[in-house]
Amino acid sequence: MAASPRRDRALHAAPDAPPGLDTPLQYLKGVGPQRARHLARLGLETVGDALLYLPSRHEDRSQLTPLGRVTVGQTLTCTGTIAGISPPPRGRSRAPLYVTLRDASGFVNAVWWGQAYLERVFTRGQRLIVHGVVKQGRRSPIELHVADHEIVEDGENETLHTGRLVPVYPLTQGLPQRPLRALMKRLVDGCAAAAPEPLPETIRVRHGLPPIGRALAQGHFPESEAVLATARRRLVFDDLFLLELGLAIRRQRDGRLPGLAMHPPGALPRRLLRSLPYRLTRAQERVWGEIRIDMAQPHPMNRLLQGDVGSGKTVVAGLAMLTAIEAGFQAALMAPTEILAEQHWLTVSSLLAPLGIRVTLLTNATRGKARRALLAALAEGETCCLIGTHALVQEGVIFKRLGLAVVDEQHRFGVVQRATLRRKGESPDVLVMTATPIPRTLALTVYGDLDVSVLDEMPPGRQRVLTAIRDEKERPGVYAFLRQEMQARRQIYVVYPLVEESEATDVRAATEMAARLQREIFPDFRVGLLHGRMSAAEKDRVMAEFRAGAIQLLVSTTVIEVGIDVPNATMMVVEHAERFGLSQLHQLRGRVGRGPWKSYCALMTQGASDDARRRLDAMVATNDGFRIAEADLELRGPGDFFGTRQSGLPEFRVADLLRDAAMLEEARTEAFALVAADPNLLRPEHRALRADLLARWRGKLDLASVG
Ligand code: ADP
Ligand code: MG
Repeated sequence: MAASPRRDRALHAAPDAPPGLDTPLQYLKGVGPQRARHLARLGLETVGDALLYLPSRHEDRSQLTPLGRVTVGQTLTCTGTIAGISPPPRGRSRAPLYVTLRDASGFVNAVWWGQAYLERVFTRGQRLIVHGVVKQGRRSPIELHVADHEIVEDGENETLHTGRLVPVYPLTQGLPQRPLRALMKRLVDGCAAAAPEPLPETIRVRHGLPPIGRALAQGHFPESEAVLATARRRLVFDDLFLLELGLAIRRQRDGRLPGLAMHPPGALPRRLLRSLPYRLTRAQERVWGEIRIDMAQPHPMNRLLQGDVGSGKTVVAGLAMLTAIEAGFQAALMAPTEILAEQHWLTVSSLLAPLGIRVTLLTNATRGKARRALLAALAEGETCCLIGTHALVQEGVIFKRLGLAVVDEQHRFGVVQRATLRRKGESPDVLVMTATPIPRTLALTVYGDLDVSVLDEMPPGRQRVLTAIRDEKERPGVYAFLRQEMQARRQIYVVYPLVEESEATDVRAATEMAARLQREIFPDFRVGLLHGRMSAAEKDRVMAEFRAGAIQLLVSTTVIEVGIDVPNATMMVVEHAERFGLSQLHQLRGRVGRGPWKSYCALMTQGASDDARRRLDAMVATNDGFRIAEADLELRGPGDFFGTRQSGLPEFRVADLLRDAAMLEEARTEAFALVAADPNLLRPEHRALRADLLARWRGKLDLASVG
């Protein structure tokens, strides 16, 4: 008989050498093409993938209950000898199979459903370990409904599915738990010990971590909970360490690139500071100092400036831009929306105008002759300060000598645009500003290749925005309050959510709301409307009127979410507040409380889900952006927190950023120290580590070309 292809491969595999970690699972004995397809669906192609496919949990089936002490309602594991088998009646193969088990303490009837074939597998006198739930029975008062069982062969003392801490794997259709578990056991026994150790011995020992082979074996089939916990720690450390190692390498490489050293005497920044009606906060002073030092270095600056809404990032950016300008370079600021670009343009213009510096605005609305003139002036170097949307990174926008690029609201841009902007000059300095306070753990991962500055202090006089949740019944009361505020000459925002699938509907809802408020509720005030479908010119006009106080109440879709600064606005009403994410709500609320007046936020909602309710409660509980971000992260999980999966980072196998935050810092310290000592991991003792690193980062880390 001709050997089947599968058998053939198995024959060709060297019988005594264990399969290497990169051996495709398909080539293993007992894994055919179909099973290989199922495994691939779980993301498992090679032996190494499978070893890192850890169980989602372990079930403790190690405690054996004597049969005589089994009681109804328990989930338990027992062992006993088969004393009798009672198969389903002929032709009723779906009826249960009853097996009587005995031990020294008594008898129990064990029941299997839909597995009549076991009748032919079991024989009297065989010893079984069974795991299942005890229920009241039809045949006998107590029955054990078996979920998993094992036949104990003579002399065998290791079990797989019962009688131990049993791994439970996430499954896919067509691949049941038992065969997957059996395959894992085979792989762990045959291959785990051969896994090359990537972690340098000193690091491993310093953190009390077991060798990789033992960690893998115990991560799947642990001897005890304690050993399992240690194994897990080791594998989590690997995830975090490999991530931080990649970031350390990137950062170190960026840090060594030649860049522009800008250290002018500082006359322009000093003049700006003198012209301000306020003094910098200590936090602003400190951050400005950090930026100044970075800019003076002959390497590109890569700094993230984090600061809650209203913490005063703009003036810090202004100081940095002036430094570049004074050093003879151009400075650019890029914002995520047209409205925000204009807002920045207004603010920065008013800051720099007293110094005689003209600030230019470039958006998609800049067209034709004006655009050509603007681009020419930019290429000639006549324009020294440019503000705009991502129009700035489009082709055809050429700077003469770009020295500093400021990017506002980073997480809307992502890593790619940051890189594009950088290529607009010869390694200009980059300052990323974000108003979404990122919990430190995440800042270390996602922005691990950036230095981080934090504005952790608000300008003096800022007040907590009083926040309340209101439902439809309370609407008249809310309107009465709005009237009071407007009578006191304050201004109001009313914001509508934008649900992307039906922008037209949302715009209609906002439009109708504005019309109704104007006609029926506040005929004696002016109500304005702002939404994403309006032309840039219309938006401009409305914003200008609101800023000037000619419009008292502004109904808007979320276009005003970030950056708008109208200190006279004291009340934010958020309609359908349950539809907004937590950080969005925080940004919206940040639009008020910017002047000397007491400010308020009403979250209008009707029938919020539990999750939504938790978000709204968090808003009521705190005004602190960092605490809100942490709550947000907990509610949503890190993947979702950043919207689309943050590009360019490897995925974790075992680690969880929330649960394993403490270890992240340890891993980071080790990774950065290692890279400082062996920048490209070329030392022979780092060979396995280097291979693991490249595999994890899958080409996103250009290590090979450097090495
Ligand atoms: P952010 O961009 O961080 O949300 P802004 O830069 O828009 O904050 O500043 C918010 C407001 O605070 C602005 O009106 C600004 O003029 C004001 N401001 C900034 N720094 C200070 C300071 N040190 N003292 C008082 N007011 C300040
Ligand atoms: Mg801002």
